[in-house]
Amino acid sequence: MASNANTHLLLKANLKQLRLPTMNAEFEKLAREAAAADEGYEQYLLRLTELEVAARASNAVQARIRAADFPVHKDFDTFDFTAVPALSKPKVLELARGEWIEQRANVCLIGSPGTGKTHCAVALGLAACRLGKRVRFYTAAALVTRLEEAQKQYQLDRVLAQLDRTDLLICDELGYLSFSRAGAELLFQVFAERYERRSLLVTSNLAFSEWGQVFQGERMTAALLDRLTHRCHIFEMNGESFRFRESMKTKKGKKPSEGA
Ligand code: ADP
Ligand code: MG
Repeated sequence: MASNANTHLLLKANLKQLRLPTMNAEFEKLAREAAAADEGYEQYLLRLTELEVAARASNAVQARIRAADFPVHKDFDTFDFTAVPALSKPKVLELARGEWIEQRANVCLIGSPGTGKTHCAVALGLAACRLGKRVRFYTAAALVTRLEEAQKQYQLDRVLAQLDRTDLLICDELGYLSFSRAGAELLFQVFAERYERRSLLVTSNLAFSEWGQVFQGERMTAALLDRLTHRCHIFEMNGESFRFRESMKTKKGKKPSEGA
């Protein structure tokens, strides 16, 4: 009995040293089950290692989601595609499979406020995290501020290198605020550097023809759009604001007719 307890303690210590916390937590329970089911040694070890592998995969996804810094956690399960008939559900769900990120392609979601651009962008970002991609979410304004601050502190190269390590950069709300010339140039630099190397997802309330307002200068806007849209899945999400519709529903206390 004493030697059994000793074995148990040594095993616990070894699993801890080997950084196998799930195996450490589960080996006794699984051993009882294996004994009861008359399972072989290899089968037991396989089941035990499977638990560790699964826990690691799940922790890695959670870590990638945290690192992405999404403003909200909205997924496709709560997205009502019938509310945005202009948006092709099969095409969007195809994007959720992540091949566009492997192909270093881009996505643009263009539409008026409240049409679900941020919701969709986050849902695509979450899908990418689950596929093992490194994702980072910024509003355009926050990204420009980050770049400007970094430049002031002589840290721009470091921040650009950090952004470069992400497989998918999400830049939300381009067009709500215009930038200084220097800010626009920094954003241009990020977009241009990602061209054909890393994916970019941009949402904007502005049609492409209006992007000159944000980037100041025809030449820079044209050069940027050229790169961004070269290999790009573009979705126009115009329609009634979902927020507005929801608030009308509650005010009227009834659902508007389906699909209207
Ligand atoms: P946008 O970024 O285009 O301004 P959001 O994505 O922030 O719009 O959407 C506004 C709100 O409405 C959010 O709470 C979002 O979850 C919700 N919403 C928008 N479109 C839909 C939709 N088609 N189905 C479900 N919820 C939606
Ligand atoms: Mg938004």
